Amino acid sequence: MRLEGVNKYFGAHHVLRDVDLDVRAGEVVALIGASGSGKSTLCRCVNRLETVDSGRITLAGEPLPEEGRELARLRARVGMVFQAFNLFSHLRVVENIAFAPVKVRGRSRYDAAERARELLARVGLADKGDAYPGQLSGGQQQRVAIARALAMDPEVLLFDEPTSALDPEMVGEVLDVMSSLAADGMTMLVVTHEMGFARRAADRVVFLDNGRVEETAAPDEFFDGPRSPRAREFLSKVLAH
Ligand code: ADP
Ligand code: MG
Repeated sequence: MRLEGVNKYFGAHHVLRDVDLDVRAGEVVALIGASGSGKSTLCRCVNRLETVDSGRITLAGEPLPEEGRELARLRARVGMVFQAFNLFSHLRVVENIAFAPVKVRGRSRYDAAERARELLARVGLADKGDAYPGQLSGGQQQRVAIARALAMDPEVLLFDEPTSALDPEMVGEVLDVMSSLAADGMTMLVVTHEMGFARRAADRVVFLDNGRVEETAAPDEFFDGPRSPRAREFLSKVLAH
């Protein structure tokens, strides 16, 4: 996944400024930055939930499609896990995961449900397939949301603060699933405030400040000695508590 010279405005507000960003196959990139720096907007542009004003975004060398069927295909190639899980409350867990593969990929219900159960096992919830989302904890629901994203066989997974809405005791179980995906070679862009996770699991850290990529570095390099004053200031705030 590659962004080249991407600019995005909301009205007069310049939200992404000449952003260049690469996530190579099998790589895990942690995208960090203060609230309002443009992290979610960047993710939404990659998934074409927002359009860019200039610059290029490519996936495996192909530019993002504008609309129509191609756009639906693109969305299937880019999995997204948000802060809010947005599971269908009236559908069982297995049905939540199998829903899009049946509707978008045209898989049979039987195959999609089988696959859903495999993916549930992968996120440590083999016994929850028949439960309804409301019967699960937040951490479990987020793991279902990850399984749902994986069910589309995405080439890239984007995570936008997947643990921010969780009670502290549930953060670890979700990060563990993400770490195991990373170890399996999944290509991931992860917006997170979990600095320990970023340091352990990421291959690279990209620090966004006011819509601009201020610094890109290996995690140890970044956390031990950020080069830019803005990154130093940010880290001193988030690591202070
Ligand atoms: P982050 O995820 O890093 O907190 P966002 O990408 O959500 O940042 O937001 C970046 C900036 O763009 C913020 O100033 C935010 O208020 C603004 N913004 C985000 N979405 C919209 C929108 N749909 N309309 C107008 N402004 C927006
Ligand atoms: Mg955000």
